[in-house]
Amino acid sequence: MSLSPAVTETADVVIIGGGIMGVSIALHLVQDGVENVVLLEKEHLGAGSSGKSGAILRQHYSREASIRMARESLQFYRTFGARYGRDIGFEQPGMLFLANESAREALERNVEVQRSVGVDTRVVDAQEVRALEPRGTFGDAVLGAWEPEAAYVNPVRTVYALADVAREHGADIRTEARVSGVLTENGSARGVRRADGAAIHAPVVVNAAGPWAGPLLDEQDLDYPLQAIRPEQAYLEPPGDFGEATTMYADLVTGIYWKPEPAGWTRIGKMSYDGDDDVPDPDDYDEGIDQSFIDFTREAITERLPAFAQATSWGGCGALYTITPDAHPLIGPVPEIDGLFLASGFSGHGFKLAPSVGQGLTALITGGDPGPLDPDLFAVDRLRHDRPVTVPYAYGILG
Ligand SMILES: Cc1cc2nc3c(=O)[nH]c(=O)nc-3n(C[C@H](O)[C@H](O)[C@H](O)COP(=O)(O)OP(=O)(O)OC[C@H]3O[C@@H](n4cnc5c(N)ncnc54)[C@H](O)[C@@H]3O)c2cc1C
Repeated sequence: MSLSPAVTETADVVIIGGGIMGVSIALHLVQDGVENVVLLEKEHLGAGSSGKSGAILRQHYSREASIRMARESLQFYRTFGARYGRDIGFEQPGMLFLANESAREALERNVEVQRSVGVDTRVVDAQEVRALEPRGTFGDAVLGAWEPEAAYVNPVRTVYALADVAREHGADIRTEARVSGVLTENGSARGVRRADGAAIHAPVVVNAAGPWAGPLLDEQDLDYPLQAIRPEQAYLEPPGDFGEATTMYADLVTGIYWKPEPAGWTRIGKMSYDGDDDVPDPDDYDEGIDQSFIDFTREAITERLPAFAQATSWGGCGALYTITPDAHPLIGPVPEIDGLFLASGFSGHGFKLAPSVGQGLTALITGGDPGPLDPDLFAVDRLRHDRPVTVPYAYGILG
């Protein structure tokens, strides 16, 4: 989209998207002293993937760079309430990663890397897995990685809290403000055009539009491998005599993960992207849940926790992931357009990384220290140069 004469406002940075990435980037920019930061969200804050997120904060990754990002982000979320006086629903029940012998090598290696950067985690055998969850059925072939520091937050409260603090530091965060395209001139970003026709002129534009990031790039004839898909989440309430289900699990054997939700429900999702529908238009997708998904998750969790055979179903939802071919995000400058930055493609595991993404992207814009973000590893054009991020797990979502 070329520059229009009808420029109505100016900013130093315009951020497109009010999900966890957009608000984290806004917060870090204003805290770094960038003065005129405008964030435009087409609906309400958290309207995309972020509002439906499990918001599990684990450090169990394979690569040092991701572990460091998850670790520093966990610290950010853990201390957020004390620093800013806002309750983001931070809970730290720990997480157990279950595998069988075929994944032993990857699990042990990953735990070793995690420990080398300071994560409190260890490999546990079947006996210890059973001690951690005495109500479960875990055969002798099961092994696990136990991460007691793993936590979760309330995703909606967190998005709003970061936005509030960003506003207090001077960010201009607007809702019901859809961007229809990025303005460019001579290969440089010049701002954005809003759907209502108004323009905001700025030398730096950040596309943090989650599943809509791809369509916005298409507008510029830029081809990046971002694909929106529709995962489902089921909510099951175990019978009253089961007691509390507190620990979080990622089960590489049954292919599901689960975590506690408020109201005593357990949220269950799938570890792979297999079977998730493609979503060509993220403005038009089915937000409901299929009975077959409820049946699948009930059956899978019952293999581990037999009491769930009698669980009450509270339905669930259809949501959106933005995936890339190597299941890792595209973060950083878009080489074709000077001043245009991208943060998308988090492939279903981005919430836990958002504080580090905010810090890192801010540094890439202002020239500071990107902290734990490795800009080369997540470079937006890495796949064109055949440099995918590789991991040893069969489930890319684990990283
Ligand atoms: C069901 C589910 C469970 C998940 N569980 C976890 C988990 O346990 N742990 C974890 O770390 N991650 C998890 N994730 C992934 C994580 O939630 C996402 O990686 C993260 O929320 C992505 O944030 P975002 O800001 O990039 O995108 P989004 O939250 O989608 O935000 C993009 C925003 O941009 C807005 N927008 C789009 N186009 C425009 C436009 N043209 N103009 C203005 N605004 C626009 C949208 O309305 C939206 O609000 C999960 C995701 C889902 C869907």
